Amino acid sequence: MRIVSSDLLFTPTPARIARLRDLAYNLWWTWHPEAQDLYRRIDPLLWEQQYHNPVRFLRSVRQSSLDAAAADPAYCAAYDAVLHELDTYLDDEHTWHDRAFGTTSRQLIAYFSAEFGIHESLPIYSGGLGILAGDHVKEASDLGLPFVAVGFIYPQGYFRQELDHSGWQVASYTRLDFADIPAVPATTADGHEVVVAVELPGRTIYAKVYRLQVGRVSLLLMDTDIHPNSPQDRELSARLYGGDQEMRVAQEIVLGIGGVRALRQLGLAPTVWHMNEGHSAFLVIELLRERVAGGMSADAALAHIREQAVFTTHTPVPAGNDAFPLDLIDRYFASYYAHLGIDREQFMQIALQQQPWGPAFAMTVLALRGSRGHNGVSALHGHVARGMWQWLYQHATTRDEVPITSITNGVHSATWLAPAMRQLYDAALGAGWEHEIDDRARWQRVDHIPDAALWNVRHQLRSDLVQFARDRVARRHRRMGWDVGTPVLRDDILTIGFARRFATYKRATLLFRDLDRLRQLLHNPQRPMQIVFAGKAHPADHPGKLFIQQVYQLSMEAEFYGKLVFIEEYDMCVARHLVQGVDVWLNTPRRPHEASGTSGQKASLNGVVNVSILDGWWPEAYDGTNGWAIGEEREYRDEQEQDWHDADHLYRILEHEVLPQFYTRDDAGIPTRWLATSKAAIATCAPVFSTRRMVKEYATRLYLGAPTSS
Ligand SMILES: *Cc1c(COP(=O)(O)O)cnc(C)c1O
Repeated sequence: MRIVSSDLLFTPTPARIARLRDLAYNLWWTWHPEAQDLYRRIDPLLWEQQYHNPVRFLRSVRQSSLDAAAADPAYCAAYDAVLHELDTYLDDEHTWHDRAFGTTSRQLIAYFSAEFGIHESLPIYSGGLGILAGDHVKEASDLGLPFVAVGFIYPQGYFRQELDHSGWQVASYTRLDFADIPAVPATTADGHEVVVAVELPGRTIYAKVYRLQVGRVSLLLMDTDIHPNSPQDRELSARLYGGDQEMRVAQEIVLGIGGVRALRQLGLAPTVWHMNEGHSAFLVIELLRERVAGGMSADAALAHIREQAVFTTHTPVPAGNDAFPLDLIDRYFASYYAHLGIDREQFMQIALQQQPWGPAFAMTVLALRGSRGHNGVSALHGHVARGMWQWLYQHATTRDEVPITSITNGVHSATWLAPAMRQLYDAALGAGWEHEIDDRARWQRVDHIPDAALWNVRHQLRSDLVQFARDRVARRHRRMGWDVGTPVLRDDILTIGFARRFATYKRATLLFRDLDRLRQLLHNPQRPMQIVFAGKAHPADHPGKLFIQQVYQLSMEAEFYGKLVFIEEYDMCVARHLVQGVDVWLNTPRRPHEASGTSGQKASLNGVVNVSILDGWWPEAYDGTNGWAIGEEREYRDEQEQDWHDADHLYRILEHEVLPQFYTRDDAGIPTRWLATSKAAIATCAPVFSTRRMVKEYATRLYLGAPTSS
């Protein structure tokens, strides 16, 4: 394994534990808590200060701390075990892919995404789409798929969130130091660094390509912040989803077209092109150009590309689908038409969609036209997407004939499972369960977990969350120059979590519809509860920011303080604490706007009970025993009516079902019925809503076809 050029920046590592650096440069450590512990154990405080970033940790750790670890036999034993595990993983010759498809397959899947959520120390994601992409890549590695991922590195990342004294979200951007992340310049076979060139109006833009290793998979990330790009072009990939339409079209050109060129320079010839959302759909145009240059007609080329391409749509809201005015596209693509052997009309026709403001070049249309396999991300979303795009398919006389299928999202279990829960599963499910995560029968054995043991762990995880929240709140108070104040939250009462992007359709404030009723729920002396909120609003989403402010201001009122808490800077670290530590995961989208949602899946995996609108993934999962469903599977014409109806039902579920079940205890103080619900959540959700099931579905239904061997 490669060690980076900036060797000198590192604290010299004793030979006995020298491979701590190799480990830092394979993001495999992000889903192996025992690997993270190798750093934490050396200097727990520094590990927190460096925000769980092993590269930064190794550059700032004291020599004496490393020496002490190298001299500690217990540490060295743990170190040997982790590195043995990593080597075994990387050398595995019996992966699922090889067993199913043999080792002689010449396939290569290229997966394009505008964001990847791999770990909190790598801020190149904003929310669900990115987390899904990160989890997909990790699973592709676990399954041994021939797979390469392509995206951007954003030197200023997504924004960091702080609330001002009034609870108004303030966004700040910090510059990423490339030496701080486990990225190395991608190099060609003859050792040259890969820089791709893409033509934009009146200029050429360059993107340098970095390689990150995610287990067995390479993640290629492009950076435009390099010489000799103009200052404006250097900003192009500076921030995720920053800038205007013009910036966005340029960004998407670099992602789609530059991404293909990066793969070519590396000598890679993907046989499957997966567009995760429409942002990367310009790759279709580049593949078209390549084929036409090779002598194909445009029609034949498009048919050929379609055979190889796969597209996943994530956005049931029309405005969430990128669509550009034709004059903007003209400016960026006028020089391409001739190379594609088609005229402007034909070019526009490929992706034409009427928008309320006029004709547009729509990325979703381009992606649908340029691919053979298309899917939504839950059964319900597939249905919604078929309705949205039916106009594209003249031959489809009913919505059900629209060729958009669905593959329901899942989560990467090892990334999201609390280590303490894993120990329970190790004992109850039997050795090797993590190799058969999608085996439903095996998960029935969660019934073997003794109630007392499960309750103990759930209590411990709740306490950890409470401590985490108190630290974060104290940090905020120090920043604001306030007293630290009384500690927030308790570790022995029902705790509800609500954390997600503060898009208005997610209705974060649904629980505030009737404040008296909420107050009674929070302060019921026999059956109290508390709520932890987290989430960012898009910097341009004013109503979303108002929602955050409303939550925050309520949390500062005397009668809610300490019972209702907002944690700033929702990211993968905050998410992990929440989905592992709360008792109830609350999800209140305005149906049917939630394509899938994955945070509730992370929660179920950890024995947290979902209370959710029947939207996204939940209608597939909910069976009457494994959580609660708010509202009905119906549409409303009036949003106010929908809100009141759903809020009222939510209060009733909490008052009459959730809280009584949680507080009904046996003689030993254990809520046996509650734990039965928790176990049902685990047994029904963990095997199904995992990326293990999901990526196998992508492989067999969209990428590679039916397995060729058993
Ligand atoms: C899982 C996750 C999401 C997506 O959650 P949804 O349920 O889709 O809202 C967003 N952000 C972070 C940090 C996550 O971990």
